Amino acid sequence: MKKKLNQKLISLIEYYNLVNANFFISNYPLKRIDRNTINSSTSNKSEKLVKLETEIKMIKNCDLKKNATNLVFGDGNINSKIMIVGEGPGANEDAEGKPFVGRAGKLLDKMLAAINLDRTMVYISNVVNYRPPANRKPTDHEIKRYLPYLKRHIEIINPKILVLLGSTALNTLVGNEEVISRARGKWIKKEIGTINTWIIASFHPAFLMRQPEQKKLAWVDLKMIRDKIKTLKL
Ligand code: URA
Repeated sequence: MKKKLNQKLISLIEYYNLVNANFFISNYPLKRIDRNTINSSTSNKSEKLVKLETEIKMIKNCDLKKNATNLVFGDGNINSKIMIVGEGPGANEDAEGKPFVGRAGKLLDKMLAAINLDRTMVYISNVVNYRPPANRKPTDHEIKRYLPYLKRHIEIINPKILVLLGSTALNTLVGNEEVISRARGKWIKKEIGTINTWIIASFHPAFLMRQPEQKKLAWVDLKMIRDKIKTLKL
């Protein structure tokens, strides 16, 4: 009997040695990460994105689509809380099927790096998903046609910060009466579809390449984004 009890005690001590005592002693509630929830919400997001991309691929009678090589849907981290919206794909983007991979994209990468971000930390898309011929601005009709897709795209990503690059993105999502030189560098809280997000507009990198003296204002906007990331604890 005594031997049996001793054996039980030894097993118990061995068991407690195996586990970290702090785990039991700590008063802090355990932060349980439900990996299933994270995985399922991520896969849910990617499923929704695939569905949206497929719908855009099936657009009929669209001149943008007819003249383009590839659909340029989006790129980056689908779980990011920061989404960037440009105007529309250029020649390089059309060839690769990815947004902002040409010269403007290289400048965008530098702008992001200046506030310690990179493409793995943001999500990027455009107002229209096919390249307008000869890099012209998308027409109002084209913008209208792609707007429901863009809104759904934003709803799926559900960003806390939405960065609009250039007047096309600004006018499409905030209002036609806005002028980029006056609207840039200001935070507005706005509902887009079912989501609510902070929006800031800034100059498009292609514009900054033509007007490098405006980079100092773009830097002001970038610092505002950096500060917002901090205050929102993103
Ligand atoms: N300019 C844009 O607005 N979007 C791109 O993807 C590339 C250049």
